Amino acid sequence: MNRDAIEDGRNANSLQHSPIRVGVLGFGGLGQAAARVLALKQEMQWVAAADHKGYVFAPSGLSVEDCVKTYQTQGSLGYLEPFGVLSNNSIHDLLAQTVQVQGLFLALPNLPNTFMATVVRQLIDLGWQGVVVDAIKRTTAMEHLFQMEDELKASGITYLTGCGATPGLLTAAAAIAAQSYTEIHSVNITFGVGIANWEAYRATIREDIAHLPGYDVERARKMTDAEVEALLNQTNGLLTLENMEHADDLMLELAGICSRDRVTVGGVVDTRHSKKPLSTNVQVTGRTFEGKISTHTFTLGDETSMAANVCGPAFGYLKAGAKLQQRGVHGLFTAAEVMPQFVK
Ligand code: NAD
Repeated sequence: MNRDAIEDGRNANSLQHSPIRVGVLGFGGLGQAAARVLALKQEMQWVAAADHKGYVFAPSGLSVEDCVKTYQTQGSLGYLEPFGVLSNNSIHDLLAQTVQVQGLFLALPNLPNTFMATVVRQLIDLGWQGVVVDAIKRTTAMEHLFQMEDELKASGITYLTGCGATPGLLTAAAAIAAQSYTEIHSVNITFGVGIANWEAYRATIREDIAHLPGYDVERARKMTDAEVEALLNQTNGLLTLENMEHADDLMLELAGICSRDRVTVGGVVDTRHSKKPLSTNVQVTGRTFEGKISTHTFTLGDETSMAANVCGPAFGYLKAGAKLQQRGVHGLFTAAEVMPQFVK
């Protein structure tokens, strides 16, 4: 096949010519970073967003600067003129009237642990159709989504779960690294996160606190900001996390790589400095067909932020999901079983 024929085939198989219209649900740390990432893309257009108290929808596209300014000064996108709407049921109200949003990134807190599942229930009940990606973290939270797998398929939703950094980028890297081996012994994910100010990522930090000894999701959810602050003062701003309940294990098991008990996740979060306290990496150890035992290590660049390593993959998976949807493929998939596409 010559190069032109390959290109023709690619174009026929490529996305529609107009950009995918994307909504971002949740406009905290990751939601705002997602909007900044989308502003640099031609193949996706950011048209909608929701927060706890309101939503905004602009078919011709949203301005990141205006949205961030309104959210930071007034507390909700609902105040944004002229498109903002105040609502205590913002996700429902946005999606009930907005058939034009084709793809959604859920940058929402998963507090309580079933919150993401309740959002998915709303999407199904509304009859919304399109592509959804999340960056959900807990294994049990993802298991709740799998209980809705058949309904998602029947609803015409193409849902990709676990599409952040971990789970997400590192889980997918582990699935690729595993291919050198005939038997996988362990997958160890170690992350380092540096954020200058914990309040920029309240949900992420609360969900991390929930993994500390003596804490759980409910306890972390109920903590006031002052209590979080007091805890961080005791630890000098550091959260050291071991043997976390992270869905990387379920995803690698479902992808047939290894049983979940061979996957471990831990890390250190520094809530006072943007420099990472350690380099984020995944180590995949296994035995080759020749009987050699070896370890592949994939390490993220220290300059890359949590936001870059979550939002980049999330939209890469959203593009992959849009292609699946165009081919009539619906249902629930994980980031370990679909290859992300690069969004231009
Ligand atoms: P955040 O606390 O900064 O922001 C949450 C946003 O959601 C806020 O805008 C809030 O108003 C909005 N919100 C809350 N309840 C809502 C509701 N009922 N309806 C509409 N909007 C609502 O959150 P964050 O720190 O950006 O984290 C978002 C999620 O990303 C968390 O669940 C976190 O675990 C996840 N995360 C995943 C990874 C990964 O690698 N997989 C990494 C970091 C964070």
